[in-house]
Amino acid sequence: MNNSKYIFNNLKKEYPTYHTFLNYSKDYEFLFAVILSAQTTDKKVNDATSILFKDLPSLDDYSLKNKEIIINDIKSLGLYKAKCNYLIDSSSILINKYNRKIPSSREELILLPGVGKKTSGVVLNELYHANLFPVDTHIERVSKRLGLVKEKDIPDIIEDKLESYFDMYDKVYLHHAFILLGRKVCSSSNPKCHLCPLKKVCKKGVSSV
Ligand code: SF4
Repeated sequence: MNNSKYIFNNLKKEYPTYHTFLNYSKDYEFLFAVILSAQTTDKKVNDATSILFKDLPSLDDYSLKNKEIIINDIKSLGLYKAKCNYLIDSSSILINKYNRKIPSSREELILLPGVGKKTSGVVLNELYHANLFPVDTHIERVSKRLGLVKEKDIPDIIEDKLESYFDMYDKVYLHHAFILLGRKVCSSSNPKCHLCPLKKVCKKGVSSV
């Protein structure tokens, strides 16, 4: 049975609104924040970018001459040396190839340093309301527990399956709602199934309620 309508409606009741967890005021800052968020928490990224975006207020500032400032501001994040290079190289491409605009196609975005399938989907959803379902660790866990995808499925496959399963619905909203559910209720070590708005249709949760 396809429970997409039930899942969407119950999530909407539980989480009527959403907003991105990453702070930004310019489009390229959002792209940079998502690049920086790989393998770390949004809170740590926001802490780092609250300094970085003040120190370097323009896209042109992300150049080799400011490498030390960038490193210093993001060194609390994992993989910070690689991430610093991603920001500098992406900045150069955005300036020289895209006239300082963030590309609106996934094919182009994915060619920027530090941008993979998930990052490109998150950026396109936020900046262009692209209606994609990029898969992070919360979404992977929740969709597997719900039984919407197979345990062995990798994020790229999960994204395709979720997009098809929720074809008729607002996938930008669902992307955020699944993350909220994963953070607040369906945590990795101790899911609170008795509080879950989806417990009636959950493959894993039913037995533990
Ligand atoms: S019922 Fe439990 S396992 Fe299933 S989605 Fe909800 S919290 Fe997660």
